[in-house]
Amino acid sequence: MSFRLFDAPLREPSQFVGFAGNRIDRQSENRADDAVEKALAEQSARLMLMHGGRLYLKLEDGGFDPWFKVAESQPFDVSLDRGVLLGFSEGGPVLAVPAGIEPENLPEMVKAIDYRSVYMQGLIDEAAAGALAQGAALLAWHASHAFCSKCGSPSEMRAGGYRRHCPACGTEHFPRTDPVAIMLTATREKCLLGRGRHFAPGMYSALAGFIEPGETIEAAVRRETLEEAGIRLGRVVYHASQPWPFPYSLMIGCFGEPLNEDIQADLNELEDCRWFFRDEVRSMLERMHPGNLITPPKGAIAHHLIRAWVDSE
Ligand SMILES: [Zn+2]
Repeated sequence: MSFRLFDAPLREPSQFVGFAGNRIDRQSENRADDAVEKALAEQSARLMLMHGGRLYLKLEDGGFDPWFKVAESQPFDVSLDRGVLLGFSEGGPVLAVPAGIEPENLPEMVKAIDYRSVYMQGLIDEAAAGALAQGAALLAWHASHAFCSKCGSPSEMRAGGYRRHCPACGTEHFPRTDPVAIMLTATREKCLLGRGRHFAPGMYSALAGFIEPGETIEAAVRRETLEEAGIRLGRVVYHASQPWPFPYSLMIGCFGEPLNEDIQADLNELEDCRWFFRDEVRSMLERMHPGNLITPPKGAIAHHLIRAWVDSE
């Protein structure tokens, strides 16, 4: 089976996935321990407020505004001391801050909307969605790493939120990013799509799984495809990546070249897995499939892998 995968594109495919539009200047070399304090003291500081996997949005002129001034944030029971400094935009410092107020107690003009809906429904611009991915991942990491994993003592946030320090044993802890391989196995004629048990009705997507310690991206792509579908892969080619703040993953999208055709789906992981010809996949992308099968929505990297393959002919 010979299938020529793609030449290196002029425009990075990663630019077009959801959560990829972050324009913040992170200034990672300038993260002093008082960076958050100093940033909050600036008049121009802009905050994203987050609570329980939801972003607070102000209803304004028929749209949503995710940015709050420090003074504006006070009624939302914010923990400014647990805020993280995302970096700087032209307008000044940008922070993400945990808020305490429950969604049902919010004033009428502020809504708490889960991250997934915020990006799926395009409620905020791409730059803000990128900031959301950064802030949500950092706040989630802090929320689940309050104690030193070496000695069990309470640890303290440092470096604007990019480190936790254990005062008892001196260990420094750094934020995690968990790599996930997502792969479209494809020949010139057809591609392999699977259906997870929790998927929306009719949805089929590229297979995916966590990359394990000691594994290359390519090895993980081959292992996951063999485990989930019984398909052995030859060549594996990287295509694009996507920040994925659920809670702090990096999706790494690849194409794989199948060496066998007979699928043996792991029915613990998948409800179904089969080959799809190009025309059928195109109809799924365009929401014109006669059986109402669909591919993932535009913001998802799976959509971009599938679209790139469909358009590659
Ligand atoms: Zn410790």
